[in-house]
Amino acid sequence: MKMSSSDRAAGARMAPGSIVASGFLGDDSRPLADIIEADEEAFRALGLDFGLAAEGLGALLKEGEAGLGAELRHGKGLVLSSDEARGKAPCPWGDGLHHKGSVRIGLAGSADFLLVSELSLHLLREHHFCQGRGSPFRLEPSLVKRVLEA
Ligand SMILES: [Zn+2]
Repeated sequence: MKMSSSDRAAGARMAPGSIVASGFLGDDSRPLADIIEADEEAFRALGLDFGLAAEGLGALLKEGEAGLGAELRHGKGLVLSSDEARGKAPCPWGDGLHHKGSVRIGLAGSADFLLVSELSLHLLREHHFCQGRGSPFRLEPSLVKRVLEA
């Protein structure tokens, strides 16, 4: 996939310490456009829709935040816990500011979990960007599916 100039600028802001300490790319060495293209293919193959996935995870984010740090069960399959962080972080594409607070969505009986924040869900919905492999906030498509179906 060809990189647009806005993708190039966004990619530069994804380095560790530019917007968030851990950055957005983890140890993924693929170009931004390739990461997005591969995850779009994975979403298609799994029958997932970016908008619906962001909506479903957004509902869990809100539910987890209401626990104010305490662990909450969501049905039988999920354990939610919030991590309050003050302030806002900008989208690397420069189209908005998002609260930094995050919620850990754990699959019960498993070590697997997703970390979601307003920003990570914005990246998912608007930019189809699940973040790089190794990024703490990566929304691995197969794990997104397991969480939404738990
Ligand atoms: Zn954006």
